[in-house]
Amino acid sequence: MKNPSLLILPGDGIGQEVMAEVRKVIQWFGENRDLNFDVSEDLVGGAAYDQHGTPLHDETMAKAQEVDAVLLGAVGGPKYDDLDFSVKPERGLLRLRKEMDLFSNLRPAQCFDALADFSSLKKELVSGLDIMIVRELTSGSYFGEPRGIFTEDNQRVGINTQRYTESEIDRVARSAFELARRRNNKVCSMEKANVMESGILWRDVVTEVHAEDYSDVELSHMYADAGAMQLVRAPKQFDVILTDNLFGDLLSDTAAMLTGSLGMLPSASLGSPMQNGRPKALYEPVHGSAPDIAGQNKANPSACILSFAMALRYSFDQGSEADRLEAAVEAILAKGIRTGDLMQADGGTAVSCTEMGDAIIAELNSSI
Ligand code: NAD
Repeated sequence: MKNPSLLILPGDGIGQEVMAEVRKVIQWFGENRDLNFDVSEDLVGGAAYDQHGTPLHDETMAKAQEVDAVLLGAVGGPKYDDLDFSVKPERGLLRLRKEMDLFSNLRPAQCFDALADFSSLKKELVSGLDIMIVRELTSGSYFGEPRGIFTEDNQRVGINTQRYTESEIDRVARSAFELARRRNNKVCSMEKANVMESGILWRDVVTEVHAEDYSDVELSHMYADAGAMQLVRAPKQFDVILTDNLFGDLLSDTAAMLTGSLGMLPSASLGSPMQNGRPKALYEPVHGSAPDIAGQNKANPSACILSFAMALRYSFDQGSEADRLEAAVEAILAKGIRTGDLMQADGGTAVSCTEMGDAIIAELNSSI
């Protein structure tokens, strides 16, 4: 059988460094678990601009449409700050998300016990936390028309439009219910149906999809403002949170920070199923290119490695191998092995990006 295909786009800054550690992990799975991928690599962001004068070459875009999954490091950096908006590194990433029509953004907020002290919340509130925010990514207030700054009655008016069609809500709701079935079977949908018509429609469609095809999943609804309060009051009550683009932007950042460090946070963006049944998929750490530590071998590769674990689970149906990789990351944290971003003010010695990757591989070795 043909190996599944994976396109790697390391990008800029620490993207290059953390991806080097992911390559080791991919190689490990090939050598030890008979899990082989057809891996290709290409440029994105500033690296692509330097080579081609565009942050994403058409050929790279075409490759991304064909492969089973794309794994991206990070894009951007001060070198590119003065570029025209149309060729800024971030435009490469936006083009990927848009043209692959990645409408379902999965942001896990998982608190590893060893890092519970990093949270701004009390340890007992976050220890063992494992929630997933599913954010609609391609519609809503960030895309709705009309938008712009206009003049009315001699003053400027800023307009954005929250607009959702039934089918846009339907497909992201399905993706949240499917996900819940692989987890603890609970979805909480968040909107503002008390003050927004788009929220009323959102609640209606989610309820309909649930009744039609997912009545085995426990569904609840919450106003997004109350949801934000509950997230910091008692986050462990949630399993999957389903929400729109705007509220999801805020709620996923809030949830992520419950867990401590940016260097630990993976993400996935999924689209419609391809012919082989796999969803179009882009996996990437939440963090950026971290120019302040780039090139110094200081970055934490965990977020990118955990993004690969998400690819194993959601693109390649390798849930138990994803568990193995996540357990390896958790085990090295429990042993006190830390990159600089995870060091407490009271000391200890930080390992390098490379050493962290090696420690994860050593842990994987002892898992078999
Ligand atoms: P950033 O995420 O790059 O860095 C924020 C802080 O967190 C920095 O102090 C950095 O050193 C630290 N940090 C981030 N990831 C880390 C890791 N893996 N290990 C250790 N420390 C880590 O955000 P920023 O500084 O606001 O942005 C820098 C550049 O990255 C900008 O050009 C921005 O546009 C871009 N950016 C890209 C993405 C992306 O590619 N998805 C996301 C956010 C920002």
